[in-house]
Amino acid sequence: MPDVTSESTKLRPWTGDRAPASWGLGDGQAIPWEYAPAPESREIVRLKERYGLFIDGREVQASDGAVFPTVNPATEDKLADVARATPADVDRAIRAAGRAQKRRWGSLPGRERAKYLFRIARLLQERSREFAVLETMDSGKPIKESRDVDVPLAAAHFWYYAGWADKLEYAFPGRVARPLGVAAQVIPWNFPLLMLSWKIAPALAAGNTVVLKPASTTPLSALLFADVCRQADLPPGVVNIVPGPAQIGMHLVSSPSVQKVAFTGSTEVGKLIHKATAGTDKAITLELGGKAANIVFEDAALDQAVEGIVNGIYFNQGEVCCAGSRLLAQESIVEPLVEKLKDRLATMRVGDPLDKNTDVGAINSRQQLEKITELVEAGVAEGADIYQPPCDLPDRGWFFRPTLFTNVAQSHRIAKEEIFGPVLSVLTFRTPDEAIEKANNTPYGLSAGVWTEKGSRILAMVRRLKAGVVWANTFNRFDPTSPFGGYKESGFGREGGMHGLHAYVRLEDR
Ligand code: NDP
Repeated sequence: MPDVTSESTKLRPWTGDRAPASWGLGDGQAIPWEYAPAPESREIVRLKERYGLFIDGREVQASDGAVFPTVNPATEDKLADVARATPADVDRAIRAAGRAQKRRWGSLPGRERAKYLFRIARLLQERSREFAVLETMDSGKPIKESRDVDVPLAAAHFWYYAGWADKLEYAFPGRVARPLGVAAQVIPWNFPLLMLSWKIAPALAAGNTVVLKPASTTPLSALLFADVCRQADLPPGVVNIVPGPAQIGMHLVSSPSVQKVAFTGSTEVGKLIHKATAGTDKAITLELGGKAANIVFEDAALDQAVEGIVNGIYFNQGEVCCAGSRLLAQESIVEPLVEKLKDRLATMRVGDPLDKNTDVGAINSRQQLEKITELVEAGVAEGADIYQPPCDLPDRGWFFRPTLFTNVAQSHRIAKEEIFGPVLSVLTFRTPDEAIEKANNTPYGLSAGVWTEKGSRILAMVRRLKAGVVWANTFNRFDPTSPFGGYKESGFGREGGMHGLHAYVRLEDR
């Protein structure tokens, strides 16, 4: 069995029998051409040695003084110490949020709430480079993604929901939309700032206040956001941020003083939260895992499909809940498609996330790298054929090569389980019915992709795919106006668009 651990795949020489097309032309000799390093400067970020909690508009230390380190996954160096909230700190944050909601924010006219949200959106744009660099340092994602996707989309969510704050009567015609109260929000590490904005922007627009727990490996952009709240003069207590371990997340969502729970993360933890809130009248939305099928028909534009497949699974190192991790290729085109994919993979640059040329950055944590490695080893052991392009991995940090499996059976773990890494499993189908059956053969139901020239086929497929989002001839497109969420074990409730507002209001008759 080939050794697929990240350590052993470092500095592997080119062993393919032909060079990828992009390696330049030569008479039988491939000349790999390299991009010069283009590192983004870290200067714009002023890292503090120690960050506090953000409660009632102030930065405070944890009541027991405890801290935990947050590290750069690309270097394994410590970035800062962060206060680790205690249950008492969480209770204090919830009380502050309750006071702010009742006394101020909940009764503020929508147009006034909108002004704060617009201000936050503008500040995020003004400080976008700082946010992008910090997010990349703390999460390991490539700077071109945090710069071009995460931060602009986060700002766009605040712009969008600012627009709704004074128009709730139009969002819910004939009804009166009341805020729910205090929202407990727990977010993951794959899109730290973006998930924060998906949760905080609609909550605030509808008159709720929030207590948010960021993931322990990526607390820094949430704490920088606390600074934006201060800059925007947001009334104290409207937004509270309490980094801390998993138990703190459970304490937060279980509190009888929160009226709404919003969680994004693993299905396993989603189930625990669902159980903990069962029997209460808390509103709850869960956005959990996925194992999306990206379906390519023989009439699809293959070169475009290749770009969509690559974007679908290697974007953010594949650490994406809606990643297109299962490629379903029609049997007649699977060979040329896989060849094109292999060529494309060989051009991907893996390495320093702060380098503007990097396509695949660092895996967020050692634990996540171990999970990816274990599943890839299982894929090899179960008999699938592995392909990894030759590329040098940095000596330090947690990296994994873009990986492609062919000869995959539906029963293989790599075809069933969420890997949350840069690993694509290729399966085949003959007919549209077979494609639907295989695509829906998963406990998840978050997203899917369809590649074909025929509009009628797209519509027919979309109706039968059990996925909250289906992209046609594209993948991983996000827009604040568009609802996002899952079926089955991918969770329930929608974020984004008017649907996202609905999750934060109680509708009453006029
Ligand atoms: P988790 O679901 O454990 O973490 C997500 C968030 O929930 C983090 O803030 C985490 O805090 C918090 N949390 C963890 N346990 C609890 C709990 N019992 N009660 C309340 N909050 C809790 O994801 P992992 O980081 O462990 O990743 C494991 C797998 O989950 C990944 O490999 C991937 O498959 C999937 N995942 C899916 C995501 C998605 O977007 N749908 C996002 C992240 C992961 P803390 O960080 O302190 O542990």
